[in-house]
Amino acid sequence: MFRRAVYQYYTNVNYRTCEQCLSWHGVIRRRAEAFPQPVDACESSILRISRKDLRLYREKSKQMRLRAQGELRRRELFEEALNLLANQSDEALELFGRASGIDLYIPDIERLAERHGRFLQEHSGVKDRLRTQLLKAYSDKFGWRRYERLPEVMRLQREQAGMDRINELLR
Ligand SMILES: [Zn+2]
Repeated sequence: MFRRAVYQYYTNVNYRTCEQCLSWHGVIRRRAEAFPQPVDACESSILRISRKDLRLYREKSKQMRLRAQGELRRRELFEEALNLLANQSDEALELFGRASGIDLYIPDIERLAERHGRFLQEHSGVKDRLRTQLLKAYSDKFGWRRYERLPEVMRLQREQAGMDRINELLR
């Protein structure tokens, strides 16, 4: 039988998304049953796509796959940076910069501050550079296309709340 629709797995990609959902994000299949049922906390869903829109969704799918891979890469870079911070601060800052170029999340900065709080108190030069770098990266990300969908007031509030938190964590 000729089917008029196909299905695409969608998940909200962020620092919490599980690796399974990331691995399915953007994938298109002929049957909805081909996907795992999204029952975890990842805000996933299975989208029904009319065949006439398939070309457009294939294009979107590529972007979504890249985004999911980027998130995995971001996590690796961030963890590596955390591991290096105390001994190779310059390398760590560079890796934090690369991770932030993919995305930057406040809970990760909270982890950073918790793990390296003492080191950063004793190395205020590193702390100042880190704070400056993270503030800029956090502000920059709200100019990205994927954040443009947020209403402007909400975007500005989130940006400000995040920057306040960074200042507080890396005071
Ligand atoms: Zn998941």
